[in-house]
Parts: sequence; C-alpha cells; structure tokens
Amino acid sequence: MKACLFEAKEKYVICDIEKPVPQKDEVLIRVKVVGICGTDIHILKGEYFSDFPLIAGHEFSGEVVEVGEEVTQFQPGDRVTADPNIFCDKCYFCKINKNNHCLDSHVVGVTQNGAFAEYVAVSEKGIFSIPDHLSYSEAALAEPLACVVYGIRRSGIKPGEKVLIFGAGAIGLLLMSLLKMNGASQVVMVDISQKKLDFAKKMGASEVILNNEDGEKKLKAIAPFGFELVADATGSPRVMERELQFVEPDGTFLVFGVAPIGAMMKVEPYDIFRRDIRVIGSYAVKKTMQYSINLLASGKIQVKNLISSTYPLEDFEKGIQDFYYDPDHMKIQIIP
Ligand SMILES: [Zn+2]
Ligand SMILES: [Zn+2]
Repeated sequence: MKACLFEAKEKYVICDIEKPVPQKDEVLIRVKVVGICGTDIHILKGEYFSDFPLIAGHEFSGEVVEVGEEVTQFQPGDRVTADPNIFCDKCYFCKINKNNHCLDSHVVGVTQNGAFAEYVAVSEKGIFSIPDHLSYSEAALAEPLACVVYGIRRSGIKPGEKVLIFGAGAIGLLLMSLLKMNGASQVVMVDISQKKLDFAKKMGASEVILNNEDGEKKLKAIAPFGFELVADATGSPRVMERELQFVEPDGTFLVFGVAPIGAMMKVEPYDIFRRDIRVIGSYAVKKTMQYSINLLASGKIQVKNLISSTYPLEDFEKGIQDFYYDPDHMKIQIIP
C-alpha cells in the first residue's frame, strides 16, 4: 500500500509498504480522509513522544474492509472514524475513569502506525460508526472535535462568562463554537492572520483582535478586568506567556494548544496566587468521541468550511508546506 512514512526527524517519504494485517481485535480500514494536525508536525520535528519510523495520522475516517476474528461490532462496508487513543481498561488510571492517562495506552498515528496511508489497522475499542449523511471529510474532524469537547468539560465554562481564545485556526474556531453553545456571553478571538480573524467574525466571534503591539491594549479596553476563561489554541509558549494577564481574578487559563515537549514559559507564581487563577490542561480525548460525532451528525457543529486544502497522499509535501508557510491555513486534509 501507499504510505507516508516519517523516517526520522524532519524526514519523510512516500513509499510502498506492506498493508497491515488486522490482529484478532482489530479492524482494517481503507482510509478515505486524514487531517494534518499540529501534533503530526510535532512528531515530524521530534518534539513529541513518538519514535521513528512511524506512519503518523490520527484524525481520519474510512471504510472497514476486514475485521479480526474477535471483532463483534463492525463488518466490511461500515463507514467509521476512530478515537486513536486505545486504552488498556486494566491499569490504575483506567480503573478510576482517567483513561486518557492510561499507563498502557496505544495511540494510532503516534505510538503505532496511523492513517497517512491507504490502510490502517485499529483496535475495535477505538472504532466509531458514522452516519451516511456525514461526509468522510467532515468525519475526519471528529477526533479534533472530541478533544475540544473534552477541553470544554475541563474548562468548567458557566452561562454568561466571557471568553478569550488565542489562535483562530480550526481548533480555535471549534472551541469558540462549543463555548458559545455552552453559554459564553462573549467570545473574543486573537490571531496573527487577519484572514482567519475575518472568518472567525463570520462564524460568530464577538470581537476579533489582530495580535500585534496594539492587540493587548485593545483587549484591555474590551475587558478591563479580564475574561473568566482564557484558552490557548496556539501551542506557542511565547504567546501563552502573554495570555495569563487577561484572566479575570478567580478565572481559568486553559492550556489547549500543544507546545513542544520541553519548551518553557515564564509565569509569575505570585500572580497566580494573588489573582486566584486556575491553570487547566486538557490532554486528548476522554470518552468524548461519540459526543463529537453526535454534534457533527446533528449539524450543531459545522466543519466543512474549516477545511482549507485537500491533497492526494503523493502531495503530502504540499500539505506540510501549507502548514509551515501559509499563516491563513485551516485544516489541511489528505486523501490517501
Ligand atoms: Zn490531532
Ligand atoms: Zn489503562
């Protein structure tokens, strides 16, 4: 099968490799659409907990073509997507319902081969059906949306609260939409791309602010005391350092964007103490995949217009170029 293999740091190749054989508990999927995620870029740069060589790609949808002998819920022809986080359901954390901290987890496209390929084999535990009216392209956004659903739960957003989001890419916009559905009275978006901000405004942002010298002044003018919730969707420690000041006293700072492992940011502990700031993380997906699919299937969350480019697997390089050099890019998808 054709695959994009990450061979080493910053090195990948489109090649022909053996099609995976599904294990007893696995489903073999013909990948229809797979999104490029910031995490894939971290993996490629050697900034994540993956090892090389690896076929990355964890945001995907496709059709079941083969099932292992122990698989009971799926059969060839089924349209599916997957929660790439496969939990053991036996360890300390799994037993106390903290599955996303599973001590023996396997992550498709991160610790085992993923979907930048024609086929991917995934444990039945991670497979979810998608309705016929949901396109494969939309369904490939179910995983990032599931992360956002988990993040919203973590955030503890309450009706009427004011929200500030840094980063108006696909993830920032999904956060915005879901926070509005959950009662935020105001969602202000900040980005370095005016094009993204214009789009955020069209999608319902209360205000949009270009992140330049004047940006911080404008934010202070909009909310002199800050925002109950400030969420980062940039993953940039340099940007995050500047974000904490906008959290209202007794407010929450949600670290949603993924920073490179080992990267540091400067924080004044006294400021966190004095202003009663909560700092909250949100790692991956915790049993929120079905809710994400429900939101997509019902049309409550629209993702079609979040896709900025689509390339065949042979043109993976173009997708990477868009990611690195086009500040206006949103979700980039690959058709293997
Ligand atoms: Zn992702
Ligand atoms: Zn476990």
